[in-house]
Amino acid sequence: MSARLIDGTAIAQGIRAEVTEQVSGLRARGVVPGLAVVLVGQDPASEIYVRMKGKACLDAGMHSETVVLPAETTEEGLLAVIDRLNADPAIHGILCQLPVPPHIHAEKILFRIDPRKDVDGFHPLNVGKVVLGDPTGFRPATPYGVQQILIRSAIETRGAHVVIVGRSNLVGKPLSNMLSRPGPGGDATVTIAHSRTRDLPALCRTADILVAAMGKAEFIGVDAIQPGATVIDVGTTRVADASRPKGFRLAGDIAFEPVREVAGAITPVPGGVGPMTIAMLLVNTVQAATLAAASR
Ligand code: NAP
Repeated sequence: MSARLIDGTAIAQGIRAEVTEQVSGLRARGVVPGLAVVLVGQDPASEIYVRMKGKACLDAGMHSETVVLPAETTEEGLLAVIDRLNADPAIHGILCQLPVPPHIHAEKILFRIDPRKDVDGFHPLNVGKVVLGDPTGFRPATPYGVQQILIRSAIETRGAHVVIVGRSNLVGKPLSNMLSRPGPGGDATVTIAHSRTRDLPALCRTADILVAAMGKAEFIGVDAIQPGATVIDVGTTRVADASRPKGFRLAGDIAFEPVREVAGAITPVPGGVGPMTIAMLLVNTVQAATLAAASR
């Protein structure tokens, strides 16, 4: 039997409609949520993401500022841009698109962003708040999006065994924390797997919910799936494909076609977790603007 296809694009559209309503409520109170996105250099994939983020802001009625800097920008120069945005009252959220060129220390930049404007949730203060369950902390957009997919697709996390393959600060670690916390979209028993995990397929087969966040195209096959399990594919890898106009296609970490025959529900790539990431970034920006307005 074929799995239920989870439509991340539709879920994200619903969230973006909610955000648009919240933005008009804030605008009525004289607050226009503003997001600044900083891009250093000319990475083609980053350019696409930055354009999409700017457009999503404008579509929701938010203020958007995109700062594009040349690849030769010094660390000091980039820090000065962050300082300016930190001080700008029209900007409630700041993110620096990663990766930055190798001569710039990404951590130094991310840690310079005012934690109240850190809508990516990478600043240690927000990491700590999320671990402690403080609702004023910003949850990183991708794991936040995964949790919302589960909640909005009525997939029960309470008591479920979730296996997350990947232990990055960006996805795996924060997701494990969010899903194991008490409350809606939480209360799961979470296991994190990584490249040193023994017998990954056997572990994955114990998962009621399997989240793959590895960046290894179609690595996880049907031998790793418990029949009826929910499978969430975070991975996005460009795979050469001469039949596509761009010469590549986007592949997830899951071998989609065989796995969908066994799983209970599955997210596609593209059209699964990807659109949720941008939607949750908007949610975080509205949260930042709301908190800023409350502290005026
Ligand atoms: P990352 O920092 O490279 O982490 C990858 C993780 O996968 C690591 O923990 C690594 O283990 C683990 N891993 C790699 N090979 C493995 C193997 N053979 N067996 C078990 N574990 C293995 O990547 P990331 O930043 O978390 O991103 C993961 C994927 O998600 C990428 O494809 C990225 O493009 C995608 N992504 C998508 C979105 C979106 O919006 N859709 C957002 C963010 C990321 P070790 O720690 O042991 O090396």
